Amino acid sequence: MLKGIAASSGVVVAKAYKLEQPTVNVVRRTADVQAEIDKFKAAIVKTQHDIETIKAKAVGKLTDDELAIFDAHIMVTQDPEFTGQMEEMIRSEAVNAEYATQEVSNMFIHMFENMDDPYFRERAADIKDVSYRLQCHILDLIIPDLSLINEEVIIVANDLTPSDTAQLNKQFTKGFATQIGGRTSHSAIMARSLEIPAIVGISGLLDHVNHGDILVLDAIDGFVIVNPDAKDLKHYKNKAENFAELKASLKIMKDAESITLDHRRVELVGNIGTPNDVESVLANGGEGVGLYRTEFLYMDATTLPTEEDQFVAYKTVLEKMGKHPVVVRTLDIGGDKELSYLPIPHEMNPFLGYRAIRLCLDQKDIFRTQVRALLRASVYGKLCIMFPMIATLGEFRAAKQFVLDNDKELRAEGIAVSKDYEIGMMVEIPAAAILADQFAKESDFFSIGTNDLVQYSMAADRMSEKVSYLYQPLNPSLLRLIKLTIDGAHSQGKWCGMCGELAGDEIAAPVLLGLGLDEFSMSASSILQTRKTIRALKYSDMQIMAEKALKLSTQEEVIELIKASI
Ligand code: PEP
Ligand code: MG
Repeated sequence: MLKGIAASSGVVVAKAYKLEQPTVNVVRRTADVQAEIDKFKAAIVKTQHDIETIKAKAVGKLTDDELAIFDAHIMVTQDPEFTGQMEEMIRSEAVNAEYATQEVSNMFIHMFENMDDPYFRERAADIKDVSYRLQCHILDLIIPDLSLINEEVIIVANDLTPSDTAQLNKQFTKGFATQIGGRTSHSAIMARSLEIPAIVGISGLLDHVNHGDILVLDAIDGFVIVNPDAKDLKHYKNKAENFAELKASLKIMKDAESITLDHRRVELVGNIGTPNDVESVLANGGEGVGLYRTEFLYMDATTLPTEEDQFVAYKTVLEKMGKHPVVVRTLDIGGDKELSYLPIPHEMNPFLGYRAIRLCLDQKDIFRTQVRALLRASVYGKLCIMFPMIATLGEFRAAKQFVLDNDKELRAEGIAVSKDYEIGMMVEIPAAAILADQFAKESDFFSIGTNDLVQYSMAADRMSEKVSYLYQPLNPSLLRLIKLTIDGAHSQGKWCGMCGELAGDEIAAPVLLGLGLDEFSMSASSILQTRKTIRALKYSDMQIMAEKALKLSTQEEVIELIKASI
């Protein structure tokens, strides 16, 4: 049994799909010629099939130039010069197929690398790629590729990048487990929004799991069992069924009001990464979108998305949400979110570096494209624009002024812009929480980003499983920052939401309610449970409880108090 951090709830049993590049070890052997020729020919067919499948899945995502690389690879596998020489070597020297493949490829690679014409020099890379794939097939080694998965699996990896996660096919990916990461790493957040059970931060995972092993992934209690016995299998299949039943029973909460026993109403809304996620927010009774992480639009692309691309995405979300508010966060790149096509200087502490609003205020062309797209989309619904990582009033003012300037320009161009969109900010840096009363004079709303607020308050990298014990969002120190933020907003008649992972935490809901939070934004899969929790509580009792919680000294004491009060 391997323990980790339950990042997205659920229980599944399936085969492991190990997302790790295999190492090819080649030694020369004397071998049965016919058997090697058969293996070699089968490997060519499988290689061609792989490349064609990968290309077909990439159509629409890559440019024509990028797609042409796949054609070049297929051509290599069809080139009689190349494969013919390999076959010839197997026959004449009676050697193993992977050895012949390596020898002939190396000869071609060497030849191309020494050519003057850069076009031919690039062909060396194509040959390396194809030859690696051929050798893996000859040796029966699996080359992992998310787009090739065609059976139910649990993905096992060191980490999944946000773009890996965005490519996951929900039909076949029943769960995933990673060696690094914490509850608020972006792979964990994506898993929740896709409603795929996930466990992160399992040390030693890759050493203990082989491709094809049967795994139990218990993402309720946070562990993986490798090759379970019959008794465990039965037990966890039952647990999986019970979990599915519990989920189904929450459906009656879909159309219920988000209101306490003593009539305090709150908004329960969803966090989304792509326009498609809106469906699941609506299906789970979400009353709006409290955080649209627009960086996924940038991460899914191979160049900066155009104003038109962005306009279409924002308009789609606003229209689908109708009269409900949609909080769109401007680009929050940097930290663990990188763009292959936008080099960010290497820094010692990327989470503390050049990112989010800092980058946007510096690279105004990028910011302008997004702001224009947002303002153009504003007429299609109830838009709230939100800036990430605001530390100072100076930054907030600069960002807000930039929006207002673009608003003016668009109107001057005769383009319609709504008159009543809101401009607000995330409170995820302690400095902003402490000064919330001042920010509230100029910001229309706040949304508390507890993922970063905890990371910066505790000085504990949210990606590191080694310091994950410091992810203590219910530590009284954090509760006091949350209180300062909510009180700051209310002192100026503004609303305060929360879009960090804490907002969807079952244990946290009573104390957040008691502190006066107006809007809870979470992954769609948590909305119904939170509504059930809120409807069973009395706001006045929770206010008294929250006051007590603020005076406690540890997170454990706070959790104990909450449990005793519900
Ligand atoms: C947060 O920091 O809490 C937040 C919601 O933003 P992200 O997780 O995208 O950094
Ligand atoms: Mg954040």
